[in-house]
Amino acid sequence: MSNHDFDLLVIGAGSGGVRASRIAAGHGARVAVAEEFRVGGTCVIRGCVPKKLLVYGSHFAEDLVDARRFGWHIEGKRFDWPTLRDNVAAEVDRLNELYQNTLDNNDVTTLLGHARLLDAHTVDVAGTRHTADKILIASGARPYLPDVPGAEYGITSNEVFHLPELPGRVVIAGAGYIATEFAGVFHALGVDVTLINRSETILRGWEPALADRLLQISMAKGLNFKLNCRLERVEKISDGLRLHFADGKTMDTDVLMWALGRVPNVEDLGLEGVGVALNEKGAIAVDEDNCTNVQNIFAVGDVTDRVQLTPVAIREGHSFADRQFGSNPWRVDYNAIPSAVFSNPPLGSVGMTEAQARNAYGQVRVFTSDFRPMKSVLAGRTERALYKLVVDAATDRVVGAHMIGPDAPEILQAVAIAVKAGLTKAQFDDTMALHPTMSEELVLMR
Ligand code: FAD
Repeated sequence: MSNHDFDLLVIGAGSGGVRASRIAAGHGARVAVAEEFRVGGTCVIRGCVPKKLLVYGSHFAEDLVDARRFGWHIEGKRFDWPTLRDNVAAEVDRLNELYQNTLDNNDVTTLLGHARLLDAHTVDVAGTRHTADKILIASGARPYLPDVPGAEYGITSNEVFHLPELPGRVVIAGAGYIATEFAGVFHALGVDVTLINRSETILRGWEPALADRLLQISMAKGLNFKLNCRLERVEKISDGLRLHFADGKTMDTDVLMWALGRVPNVEDLGLEGVGVALNEKGAIAVDEDNCTNVQNIFAVGDVTDRVQLTPVAIREGHSFADRQFGSNPWRVDYNAIPSAVFSNPPLGSVGMTEAQARNAYGQVRVFTSDFRPMKSVLAGRTERALYKLVVDAATDRVVGAHMIGPDAPEILQAVAIAVKAGLTKAQFDDTMALHPTMSEELVLMR
C-alpha cells in the first residue's frame, strides 16, 4: 500500500473507468474515480443506451403499419415525443444510480468535478488535491465540431436526447454509425431527414455491399441524401437554420446535427505538464498493457482511440486493473470485434470485409444470401436482407460475416462466436438450419 491518498485514481467514470475502479477495488486497492458530468459515461448517459431506446421507440412506427397486414387495426395512433424522451431520460437516471451504487458498494470514492493532473501523482478535482500511486485516464471522447462559421448553431449527440420538441426537418452532417442511426430514428418518427456528407458513400469501413443496401433502402423509405457536398457556413434565420454549401446552393432546416466522428478528451487534463505523450491521432499513446510513456500513468477507452466501443473500453479497464492490482495479468484481444449499426434496417459485422480478406489472404470465397424476410413479405415490404460470409479459400475459415436486415445485430453476436473461434465454412454448413428463421440463411449459403 502506498503512502498516497489512493492506490489508484481514475479520471472518468464511464465504461472503462467504472470497470477498472470496481475490479481494482476488488483486488484490495484504495480507489477513487473523478467524474465531471455523470457517473456512467457516454454509453449510459448519452450514447448506446438512450440511443438504442430511441431506436426501439421509433421502430413502432413501421411495426404499427405492418400490423395491419397481420389483422390488427389500430385507430388513432399518435406519437408523443416528450413521453419517449422523458421515459428514456428516466431510464438513464436509473442506470446512473445503479452505476453509482456499484462504485459505492465496492468502496470506490467518487470525486465529482473536473480532474487535472498537477504532477504524476497529484490530481486536482474541483479545487481539491488528491494523490495516488497510479493514475488511469479514462476520459473518453466527445463529438467533433467542424471549423465552419455558425457551427455552434448545430447540435450533437450530446443534445439530441433532450430536444424540447420533435423538429419538422433535421439535417444530419456525417455518414458514420451515429449519423445513420439518428437518420433512421428521426425518419421513422415522421421528421423530414437529410443526411449530408463530403464523400459519395455512407458507413466508410463497413462492407460496401451492406452500406449500399442501407442507402438504397433508406432512399426508398424517403430519407434524403446530399452526398459529395461541402457545408461552408451555417446561418441562423427566423424559422431555423440556413445551410450554405460550396456549390452555392442552400438548404433550410430546423435542426442541424453534427455526427462527424468523436475526438479523444485530452484537453485540460494537465497532460503536457506531466509529459504524457499523444499519438498522431491526438489520442493518448499506450502500449498493449495500457501504459503511457509516464511510468505510473495509464489510459483506456475512447481517449486512446483504438476501437471506440463500450465493450472494448470495459475490457481494457478490466485488463488494466487485473494486471496492475491482481495476480492474473491478461491482454485484450482485438481480433474479430463484432459491431453494429442500429440503423433501420440495422447492420451487424464481424471480422474482415471482402476487400480486407483479399488483401490479407489473396484467395477468398464469398457467399451471399439476398432475401426478403418472411415477415416483410406478408407485411408487404419490399426491402431485402443481405448476408455475406467471407471465407479464406486456403483454410476454409470464415473470416468475415456481415449482415443487414431485421435483428442483424442480435444474430451477429452469435455468429461472432463462430468467427472468433475460427470455424470453417464446412462447419457452418454442417450445422442444421433452425427453421423458419432469418438466421438459418447463415448455414444455407452454398
Ligand atoms: P466514456 O464512457 O465517454 O467516459 C468518460 C467519462 O470521463 C465521461 O463521463 C466524462 O464526463 C468523464 N471526463 C472526461 N474528462 C474528465 C475530466 N477531466 N475530469 C473528470 N471527468 C472527466 N458503443 C457501443 O459499443 N455500442 C453502441 O451502440 C454505441 N453507441 C453510441 C452512440 C452514441 C450517440 C455515442 C456518442 C457513442 C456510442 N458508443 C457506442 C460509444 C461508447 O459510448 C464509447 O465507446 C464508450 O462510452 C467509451 O467509454 P470510455 O470509458 O472510454 O469513455
